[in-house]
Amino acid sequence: MNFEVDKIRQDFPILHQQIYNRPLVYFDNAATTQRPKQVIDALNKTYTEYYGNIHRAAHFLADKATEAYEGTREKARNFINAETREQIIFTKGTTESINLAAFSFGEAFVQEGDEIIVSEMEHHSNIVPWQLMAARKGAKIVMLPIDNDGRLLIEMLEQLITKRTRLIAVAHVSNVLGTINPVKQIARIARNNGVRIFVDGAQAAPHLRIDVQDMDVDFYAFSAHKMYGPNGVGVLYGKTELLEQMPPYQGGGEMISEVKFSGTTYNELPYKFEAGTPNISGVIAFGAAIDYLRNTGIETVAAWEHELLSYATAALNQIPGLRIYGTQAEKSGVISFNVEGAHFFDLGTMLDKFGIAVRTGHHCADPLMDHFGIQGTVRASFAFYNTREEIDRFVDALKKVIAMF
Ligand code: PMP
Repeated sequence: MNFEVDKIRQDFPILHQQIYNRPLVYFDNAATTQRPKQVIDALNKTYTEYYGNIHRAAHFLADKATEAYEGTREKARNFINAETREQIIFTKGTTESINLAAFSFGEAFVQEGDEIIVSEMEHHSNIVPWQLMAARKGAKIVMLPIDNDGRLLIEMLEQLITKRTRLIAVAHVSNVLGTINPVKQIARIARNNGVRIFVDGAQAAPHLRIDVQDMDVDFYAFSAHKMYGPNGVGVLYGKTELLEQMPPYQGGGEMISEVKFSGTTYNELPYKFEAGTPNISGVIAFGAAIDYLRNTGIETVAAWEHELLSYATAALNQIPGLRIYGTQAEKSGVISFNVEGAHFFDLGTMLDKFGIAVRTGHHCADPLMDHFGIQGTVRASFAFYNTREEIDRFVDALKKVIAMF
C-alpha cells in the first residue's frame, strides 16, 4: 500500500535517535506509543498561553482552558461516535475508567449472588476491579475461556449466562494476542439476555474505527497514551441511562451540585464522575492526538499496521523453534512469541542492545499465560510510524541473538 511513513516519522522527534549506536526500533507500542510534535506543541501551548483551572472561574485564562478541555470532550465523543458529550468521562486512563465503572455499576446494579463474566484474555486492569467489586458485593466472577489460537469461545457465552449474570467484561483487542474480539456480536448476545457489556478498548482505540452506537456496548474505555497522546488521560464512555443511575466514584470538587452537612447533591453528567482538578493540559493535548489520528485516517492506520503484521509474521514463522501466541485471523499489530531454548527476558534484553525496544514478561495477563502454560513472552507491537525496514532489522537481530544461545 502507498503510505507515506517517512513523512509521518518526521512528526515524531523521539524516533530519530541511536540506541547503543544503532537506530532505535520502537516496537513497544502496545505499552505506550510515542507522541507527534503536534501533541507536544499543544502541551507546550497550553502551559505557555492559556493554562488555568477549568470551569467556574471568571477570568480569561480559565475560560480558554475550559473551552479547550471541553473541546477535547467533543473530539473524543466524535472519535467513538457517542451520542452525547455527557457520556464522555475523563479519567486518568483505562485502568481508572474500569475501576470507576466496576465500583459504580456494582453499587447500583450488583447484589449478593450475582455474576460477572470476564474473559480469559483480559489485562489485569479488566479483571481485578471486577474482583474487588465482586468481593464487596458478594458476587461471583465467571471466566469466558479462549481456544489455543487465542479466540474467545463465544459459543460458550449463552451457556455461561445465567439469571444472575449482570455484566460481561471483555477486551476489544487483546494486548498479548492481538485478537480482535467480535464485540458487536458479544453485545448482541448480552443484550438478548438482559446483560450489560463493558469493553476495554485500550488496544483498539489507536488502531480501529470505534463506533459505540454501532457496537451497541454499554461501556467503553481507552487511554490517551496508547493513542499518541499524553499519559495520565483516559476516557470512560457509558450509556446515559446507566451513568445516571450509578453513584459517584470519588467525592470532591466538581462532582457536586450542593454540599451541606445535612446531605450533598451531585453534579450532572459527566461532571458527577470527574472529582477534583483533572489533567487539564493532558486532556487538551489529547485533543491534538485525536486530530492527528483522524487526519492520518484510522482506516489508513489499520491497513498499514496490518501490512506490518503480515510482513513480520511471515518472517518470524521462518525461524525454527519460534512459536507465536495468538494466531486467529482477526488480529491487530501485536506479536507475542517464545523461542525454544531461550528465555523471553534474555531475548528482550539482548534485542535492546541492537536498539530494538520490545516488551517481555506476562504483559499483565497472568490467566492468559496460565492458559498457554508459560511465564511470559516477547511482544513486538506496531504503530503506524513503524516500517518494513525496522521489521527486517528486528528479525535480523533476533536471529543473531538466537544464534548466541
Ligand atoms: N487494558 C489493556 C488491554 C491494556 O493493554 C492496558 C495497558 N497495557 C490496560 C488495560 C491498562 O491501561 P492503562 O495502563 O493506560 O490504564
